[in-house]
Amino acid sequence: MASNKKIVLVTGSNKGIGYGIIEMLLEKKTNLRIILTSRNEDLGKKSFNKLLNKYPYSKDYFYYHQLDITNKESISNLISWIRSQFGKIDYLVNNAGLGTHGVTTDINLHVSVLEVNVFGTINFTEEMIKNNMLNKKGKIILVGSMMGNLNRLNSYKLKNDFKNAKTTQDLLNLGEAFKNSCLKGTVEKDGWCSNSYCVSKMIVNSYPRILSYRKEIENNDISVYSAHPGWVKTDMTGPEAPLTIREGAENEVFLIELPDGINKEYQGKYFDRFKVASFG
Ligand code: NAP
Repeated sequence: MASNKKIVLVTGSNKGIGYGIIEMLLEKKTNLRIILTSRNEDLGKKSFNKLLNKYPYSKDYFYYHQLDITNKESISNLISWIRSQFGKIDYLVNNAGLGTHGVTTDINLHVSVLEVNVFGTINFTEEMIKNNMLNKKGKIILVGSMMGNLNRLNSYKLKNDFKNAKTTQDLLNLGEAFKNSCLKGTVEKDGWCSNSYCVSKMIVNSYPRILSYRKEIENNDISVYSAHPGWVKTDMTGPEAPLTIREGAENEVFLIELPDGINKEYQGKYFDRFKVASFG
């Protein structure tokens, strides 16, 4: 059925903060069509059905689709489905992510964190932009983190490389350089911080600034933000985190609900719980 309700899609929303964002939007009865996505279809459908049972009034504007942001075929299937169902979407919330549960010597885990948080997130976003999947006055929100503070880097040069990055490729090169240091065992010697999660979120926090320079973003009046949700109790963190999932979702819902159209004060910026902040 044709609808003029705007469309929001949240990646990795079968649990944790992504699920919290979807639930808050359903509960608020916002004037949106809402898409829950997950890499594991069974887990995603289970979460979708749980929410549908709790909010039965949402049945005409609540949808599920599989999405693994590291898988080309999955991205391409999602894009085809969006095209056939809606044409385009309005708000993309890049929430999917992987943590390291603190500092670890497991190189494979470090590489997986980069594959999801950096290469997966950027590649999926770039595919959405390349395929022109966002309506004018849309939004791209990246779930970043205060763990991605550039002051965690031990090298002044690397910090400048982050600050001077101008293109997506510059950010991907930083991700590749860190990955190589991990594989060679030279992370500390090369001036990185030893937690791949922190480095991955330095890249995620920086990405909206890079996107804000792009013609496709500016010409289509698309707002781009990154957001630290706070330290939230989820499977990624554990029980010692002080915030509930609901509190963690508030910052992202706040950004979804900001007025549409580019606000120069906010464009490309990093938000720490409702306020523009610095990440080093
Ligand atoms: P979570 O409960 O572990 O949820 C992470 C979600 O990402 C899960 O749905 C997971 O799916 C999904 N995911 C992982 N890899 C994926 C992939 N390749 N494709 C699609 N989805 C994938 O963690 P969370 O704490 O809610 O984290 C959500 C976001 O918030 C992350 O980006 C995280 O870095 C960020 N963040 C969290 C905190 C915090 O305190 N919790 C603080 C700052 C930032 P599966 O269920 O299949 O694993």
